[in-house]
Amino acid sequence: MTNDDGFDAPGLGALVEAVEPLGEIVVSAPDREQSGAGHALTLSRPLRVVRVDERRYRVDGTPTDCVHLAVERLTGGRLPSLVVSGMNRGLNVGDDVTYSGTVAGALEGTLLHVPSIAFSVGVDEEGRADFERAAPFARRLSATVLEQGLSSGVLLNVNFPSGPYRGIRITRQGTRTYRATAVERHDPAGRPYFWIDAVSAIPTGEPDGDHTAIRDGCVSVSPLTSNLTHDASLARTASWRLRLD
Ligand code: MN
Repeated sequence: MTNDDGFDAPGLGALVEAVEPLGEIVVSAPDREQSGAGHALTLSRPLRVVRVDERRYRVDGTPTDCVHLAVERLTGGRLPSLVVSGMNRGLNVGDDVTYSGTVAGALEGTLLHVPSIAFSVGVDEEGRADFERAAPFARRLSATVLEQGLSSGVLLNVNFPSGPYRGIRITRQGTRTYRATAVERHDPAGRPYFWIDAVSAIPTGEPDGDHTAIRDGCVSVSPLTSNLTHDASLARTASWRLRLD
């Protein structure tokens, strides 16, 4: 298990409680918040691991580092049956999937040939994410994936709306158009700096998109693939007849 909100985040504790009845767990999570870390792997410095107890580790790295270390080193040489990442505080739908450390934690599991699921929970107007409400479905889906497995190179990206659940939808990763996100301010010395603010997005209305399911109050389950090739563009790119000279 990992997350990107950090080892002490309530969403991780809620996910531990949710999946604990399913088997032996190992938690390997970043020692601080790593939201927006994407699929970064730390290559330029040593990684330090603090063993909190028998089955929980704090890592001074990204969610990808955490899963990589767990699968290769911390699980005693036994390949885990499942990697779960989350529950993230905030949605990871549409383009956000590409920035998400939560989704990347699951992606790393997939690349290491372990069935993997990312869980994210929407926040309400007061900024609260109801992890307790999400927990029973997180457990049920984890049990199903343990039983059924996933196709090679596939992970599940699961998002819960902030309000009561009206159903479950199997969705595809949606798209959105951007609003301004980089804010310019000045420090006390008058020097300008930039702060990338929480991205506000205008979802497009794809009927089978993850945004749309969330907007309609449904739990969204998206099967994603780790291979980024766009098959339909292979022939088109080939038709350019690119040359080296
Ligand atoms: Mn996060």
